[in-house]
Amino acid sequence: MIIVLFGPPGCGKGTQAKRLQANTGLVQLSTGDMLRAAIASGSELGNRVKGIMAEGNLVDDETVIAMLSARIDAPDCEKGFILDGFPRTVAQAEALDALLTGKGIEIGAVVEMTVEDEALIERISGRYTCGNCGEGYHDAFKRPVAEGVCDQCGGKKFDRRADDNAESVRIRLDAYRNQSAPLLPYYRERDKIFAVNGMAEMDVVEKEIKAAIKAAK
Ligand code: AMP
Repeated sequence: MIIVLFGPPGCGKGTQAKRLQANTGLVQLSTGDMLRAAIASGSELGNRVKGIMAEGNLVDDETVIAMLSARIDAPDCEKGFILDGFPRTVAQAEALDALLTGKGIEIGAVVEMTVEDEALIERISGRYTCGNCGEGYHDAFKRPVAEGVCDQCGGKKFDRRADDNAESVRIRLDAYRNQSAPLLPYYRERDKIFAVNGMAEMDVVEKEIKAAIKAAK
């Protein structure tokens, strides 16, 4: 089963993809995480995309499609995967369709997660993760029980994303509206869209996504 989690930055794609990965066995494929790993490793790809990502702009289609294409050939993708942050342009969606057709598979559901703009900005501006285990926190909604110590692993180093600042968030929302939102009619025409209210509690959103996946089978 191939699931696409689709929506603006901060809508909860990453959080829900992790939850789905934990209880469906489908692997989470986050192009944002792959690119951040490339930056952290200091690779040629990482150095090339670092500035673009920090500004909040999209990395070029050719680069992202090549990266995703290589990733879905890995054995852990054989049973299916959850796409988190890909596709983000119509060109990427077309490339994905071609890649999947070549493997004789197709997308099961595109889950559209809707969240109001004000909530997106509030969510993004306060979020941070444990630098050791990746557990997510938020200044207003979820602080560690012991301040400065990760609840999950006891780590004491936390990271904030370089693109989670006000100016980059504005650019990321513009990129979503101008380059990614046109994917909604693309997938609607193909009868793949399942809309979920991303403003609800995380557990409720998870249930709605699972119901959508079931309905798509
Ligand atoms: P994300 O972690 O999904 O919020 O992505 C963070 C950043 O990575 C985006 O703002 C883009 O700069 C880049 N990125 C991630 N996925 C893509 C994609 N599918 N196409 C282009 N750029 C991407």
